[in-house]
Amino acid sequence: MADHVEGIEDVEGIGDIESIVIVGAGLAGAKAVETLREEGYAGTLTLVGSEPEPPYERPQLSKEFLKGDADFSLLHDEAWYAEHDVRLLTGTTAAALDPATGTVRLESGESLAYDRLLIATGARARVPQVPGADSAYFLRDVTDARRLKEAITPGSRVVLVGGGWIGLEVAAAARALGAQAVVLERGELPLAGVLGPDLARYVTDLHIQHGVEVRTGVTVTGIRLDGVETGDGTIAADVVVVATGVVPETTLAEAAGISVNGGIIVDQQLRTSAPNVYAAGDVAVARHATLGALRVEHWDNAIRQGELAAQAMLGRHVSYDWQPYFFTDQFEFSMEYVGRSAPEDQVVIRGNQPGNEFIAYWLRDGTIAAGMNVGIWDVNDTLRKLIGTSPDPDTLTDLR
Ligand SMILES: Cc1cc2nc3c(=O)[nH]c(=O)nc-3n(C[C@H](O)[C@H](O)[C@H](O)COP(=O)(O)OP(=O)(O)OC[C@H]3O[C@@H](n4cnc5c(N)ncnc54)[C@H](O)[C@@H]3O)c2cc1C
Repeated sequence: MADHVEGIEDVEGIGDIESIVIVGAGLAGAKAVETLREEGYAGTLTLVGSEPEPPYERPQLSKEFLKGDADFSLLHDEAWYAEHDVRLLTGTTAAALDPATGTVRLESGESLAYDRLLIATGARARVPQVPGADSAYFLRDVTDARRLKEAITPGSRVVLVGGGWIGLEVAAAARALGAQAVVLERGELPLAGVLGPDLARYVTDLHIQHGVEVRTGVTVTGIRLDGVETGDGTIAADVVVVATGVVPETTLAEAAGISVNGGIIVDQQLRTSAPNVYAAGDVAVARHATLGALRVEHWDNAIRQGELAAQAMLGRHVSYDWQPYFFTDQFEFSMEYVGRSAPEDQVVIRGNQPGNEFIAYWLRDGTIAAGMNVGIWDVNDTLRKLIGTSPDPDTLTDLR
């Protein structure tokens, strides 16, 4: 048995697990580490991460950090890992894993043996297949955020390729920094796929009111240092930011023969196709209790799946069954969303939409599939409870 951590009692049933390795020191990996110690796992625990920083919060990078309102936050300082007897290997990439022998090989050449392995390698920014794409700015980690922050200066013209969450948040931050912001969206409206046409129009109008230029139906054909080439000519830019989504970081798993299809495939206990190997967070396509196979690229999911994976690795009876949740902050559009809507759902609004304080309900055949609170706080748990219920729409309120 490995050395025990002082103050942590070994819990019955997990004594035969002597070594747990977590690859990917992001939010999911860090939450798994935290939960393992909270649950009484006292064996060897190693957290391996490519980035030089210990795990930190990413959402701030496109918001407060980019605007210069706040620094980015670590989930725990380095001392915490030492206090909890966690071997934290930052700046270290796992190069290969071998499920047959239960080992992970690091780029340094060191091999780590595991009884349980969690892959929490997250995702990387998608690079569009157009000439010059490499010359653009991307925003996935704090190194990207620092570079971008330096590049966005008052008066500069920032062109965002992609009108998704990150693109719109960066546009809002650019305006706050006194820069011009131009959003190029391929579809009819930014966010239309998630919010539906009416709410997508509302968010787009908010951006326009704040001076963001939103161009829709744009096909980007090339990226240059001084602009973006489109089917309709070149759009001048001082800074081009590409925010066209992410690609799950599945390289390790694939090379090890683990089943991958748009992410690492895991069951309701986050188990991969390889024995004793689990996956969680942005990288995992997980079997949800009622919603089918889902890959969720959001903060709350990384936290909850990190916790769930830790419990599952210790043999607890847990399963993936919560409704997806995410949040954003862009101008007055500050919201939390829970559930999973579809473009054909009926949207019911309650409250004061022009005043940016309202609740949106998505109804499918009379049943609430998703809810969003905008500018109204401490009600998301109530919304969560309403999902799956079929109330008379007249009884729906703004929950205040
Ligand atoms: C700018 C930005 C803003 C966001 N804003 C929001 C928001 O407002 N609301 C919201 O809900 N979500 C938001 N998100 C999404 C949220 O941050 C992610 O869903 C979450 O961070 C995913 O956590 P993860 O641990 O699964 O992966 P990640 O955070 O991507 O961490 C994975 C880590 O694994 C490392 N890694 C990869 N391969 C290896 C390897 N072979 N060896 C070692 N290490 C490896 C990576 O370097 C990375 O550090 C935002 C994301 C970004 C980038």
